Amino acid sequence: MNTPRPPLRNLDDALADLLARAQPLADTESVSTFEADGRVLAEDLVSALQVPPQDNSSMDGYAVRRAEIADEGVPLPVSQRIPAGAAAQPLQPGTAARIFTGATVPAGADAIVMQEDTEALEDGRVRILRVPSEGQWIRRSGEDITRGSTVLARGERLGPAALGLAASIGRDSVQVARRPRVALFSTGDELVMPGAVAPEAMKPGAIYNSNRFFLRSLLLRMGCEVRDLGIVPDRRDATLDALREAARDNDLILTSGGVSVGEEDHIKPAVQQLGSLDLWQISMKPGKPFAHGRVGDAHFIGLPGNPVSSFVTFLLLVRPFLLKLQGATRLEPREVQLPAHFDWPRADKRREFLRARRDAQGGVALFPNQSSGVLTSTVWADGLVDVAGGQVIARGERVRFLPLAELLA
Ligand code: AMP
Ligand code: MG
Repeated sequence: MNTPRPPLRNLDDALADLLARAQPLADTESVSTFEADGRVLAEDLVSALQVPPQDNSSMDGYAVRRAEIADEGVPLPVSQRIPAGAAAQPLQPGTAARIFTGATVPAGADAIVMQEDTEALEDGRVRILRVPSEGQWIRRSGEDITRGSTVLARGERLGPAALGLAASIGRDSVQVARRPRVALFSTGDELVMPGAVAPEAMKPGAIYNSNRFFLRSLLLRMGCEVRDLGIVPDRRDATLDALREAARDNDLILTSGGVSVGEEDHIKPAVQQLGSLDLWQISMKPGKPFAHGRVGDAHFIGLPGNPVSSFVTFLLLVRPFLLKLQGATRLEPREVQLPAHFDWPRADKRREFLRARRDAQGGVALFPNQSSGVLTSTVWADGLVDVAGGQVIARGERVRFLPLAELLA
């Protein structure tokens, strides 16, 4: 028996509703800065020092007093040598100090003359061949970071550059949100694991389980711990067993397939039996069926089975959900507006996310087959073009482009 389809919802409302249901996880943990890539900060990182700590030279050369170099050609005795990491003595009047990149500028010096603009004399003095300007080649203390400033705020997701910045203020560990624990399973009697059956021995109707691979990878990239429960057959009892197991100790149960309302779709009644479920038809393409509910203490999210739909709904809905669980402040990808290097003459009622790629001319081109089963499109693409419901696009018009580099980070 087919139940009536739920009404269509627009994506922004569905996302807002989903995010309203995600409460940030209460637990945080301290991790080594080395291990913190991709994690979300649970504290403000405040600098206890200036970076750079002292004024230092950005060149190999000589530290001087400008007032003593009225003209080019002035010879000066060299009164000290300051390699990087060494303490500097105040600069004696009437002298220059030999200095190297990164070394502390001696008190009294107000410019560095690069060694290319000097001449070392036989008698050990140095001739200054060019009159320096004020502060030349000096990196000022605190130019990067001032003591007491917040260099990274709670809610920031850490990447390679942020790890470097944390280290630059002396942090060898940081407090981050704990990893969300996610149980993952795929539904579908047609699914076969790669390796279980050779391609030439696949039975009619069988397909390889591709969703399991990209969903697992996406979850790991989002900082999750993944409990992979494999493939669950299209039977009520098996679905119930899998859900019970998945609900234990996990923050989220993520499934793909079986969220339509055909009689082979067992997710809906099974989740309803064990907890609660809202089945949404989101007015988007690829995508459409999407479910959120709860089983015990765990959230439940059911993605569509079609690979591209599963992929895109993960990026647009599950990704921000997982970021919010970790307390991240920025949930939205940074988008760009680019000229369409294609025509899109046939409008669809639903909002579409076309698999697209930036070209060398600064525009964006489309993968020719936009079917939701064609996973090739997602590999070819480096972004999604967001086309509003009812919108047609003429070549040259600016379109909203969501880079995959943003969505997969
Ligand atoms: P469903 O949402 O279960 O009706 O599945 C929709 C389509 O996606 C069907 O063609 C399924 O065979 C396909 N599909 C479902 N799950 C997967 C999966 N894990 N890997 C590849 N294709 C899938
Ligand atoms: Mg199915």
